[in-house]
Amino acid sequence: MTDTIAAIATPFGSGGIGVIRISGPTSFDLAAKIFSKTPADGEKRAPQFISHRVSHGFICDGDTTVDEVLVIPMKAPRSYTAEDVVEIQAHSGTIVLRRILDLLFSLGARPAEPGEFTRRAFLNGRIDLTQAEAVADIINARSDSSLKFAASQNLGVLRQNIRDMISVLTQFLARLEAAIDFPDDAGAFSYTIEDKTTLQSVADNIGSLIQQHKDACFLKTGIRLAICGEPNVGKSSIMNRILEKEKSIVTAIPGTTRDPIEDSLTIEGIPFVIVDTAGIHQTDDLVEIIGIEKARDQIDAADIVLYVIEPGKPFPGKTVSKILPEDKPVFFAINKMDLADKLDIPQLPEKYSDPCPLEVSALTGKGINTLRTKLLETCIGNLEIGNDAVIPNLRHKNALVQALGHMTTMMEGLENGQEEETLALDVKNCIDDLGTITGDTASLDILDAVFNNFCIGK
Ligand code: GDP
Ligand code: ZN
Repeated sequence: MTDTIAAIATPFGSGGIGVIRISGPTSFDLAAKIFSKTPADGEKRAPQFISHRVSHGFICDGDTTVDEVLVIPMKAPRSYTAEDVVEIQAHSGTIVLRRILDLLFSLGARPAEPGEFTRRAFLNGRIDLTQAEAVADIINARSDSSLKFAASQNLGVLRQNIRDMISVLTQFLARLEAAIDFPDDAGAFSYTIEDKTTLQSVADNIGSLIQQHKDACFLKTGIRLAICGEPNVGKSSIMNRILEKEKSIVTAIPGTTRDPIEDSLTIEGIPFVIVDTAGIHQTDDLVEIIGIEKARDQIDAADIVLYVIEPGKPFPGKTVSKILPEDKPVFFAINKMDLADKLDIPQLPEKYSDPCPLEVSALTGKGINTLRTKLLETCIGNLEIGNDAVIPNLRHKNALVQALGHMTTMMEGLENGQEEETLALDVKNCIDDLGTITGDTASLDILDAVFNNFCIGK
């Protein structure tokens, strides 16, 4: 692991500046060999690198000047990887950056693997695995809220939470093991009311982290809104209005939206995914039946459902009662309200009239802003995420579910006078599962899975 790696750390393409990052024991030497305080045709002056101080000069390849650059040397451990790091700020442009990189490779640097800088930061103990993952999340954040949670994870909030639990469990394990190893001195293990409270609070904490993962999925992947209703009521038109662009095909022929079409947007920083589903109604047409089944799948996958009806038609009570979910928020919208003076507005049964159906017109845009606000309010109301919350990702959640399983078995065992050896094994397993989250007990497979999600240069 002690070789020196280099990569372009800024995105591909041209911009103001491009950064090359070098990390490893020879990074200062390598940078010094290609850098001069004067251009190549002048008298070469070797740099005197001072850690964390910017040097201005030129990258030279023999007697050609490649680029005018700023160099930032960072002595270990005060660097991104906790190794000696040099960052070269050059003009951005693929050719220039490639050329500097090739110079470094010709002098013995090795091309960095995806995520290798961050992996080194982890292996050198500067960050834990949750913080490494937060780096990827920060880079990929697609909304203000997901950035905020990634940033708090980057500060190690989740790590601290997990390590606190591990410490409680380790102390408990020590007492169990004392009872196993020295039964004469320690006596039989006694399970106190305090133990019970402490262990229960660990289990509760794991449970609420799992719940926060579920809530935060909304914020990472977007809250899924399925728009459904009978053919031709204006689902695609409403979706286009909400998105303020033409995404779904709007046509006057009933049943043309066969495949669900989805798109995303953010409303006040909260990401949404809107899915336009095929028209729901009784039909013999096979293609339509497939479309309707897809619509049902979309409703199952959705977090909120918008059911659209139109004036001049009776309320489709039978279909509605068959298709609508009990366990997620459902809104009704009466579309085509611009036609309402000519046509009867359908009356909703009492069961469906709370919340009050929204009156909209995709044609004129009336009511669409109210609809957006309503969506936002409903979702925010259902999220139980505080401002300083820590948000486990899917990998963390899976480990937490495992850990909770061991906790539950162990606590039942305690109640039922299970043997200490068995109890100790459950506690150990639980500690191991929690440890995979921070990386304390993570296998190589887990590390590879985490770092393979990175791009080169990170
Ligand atoms: P979908 O099958 O439910 O997706 O319906 P579409 O969005 O394709 O719309 C069906 C037809 O209704 C199209 O001809 C639209 O122009 C029309 N339409 C949609 N919304 C309105 C509206 O608010 N007012 C009026 N007058 N027509 C609308
Ligand atoms: Zn449609």
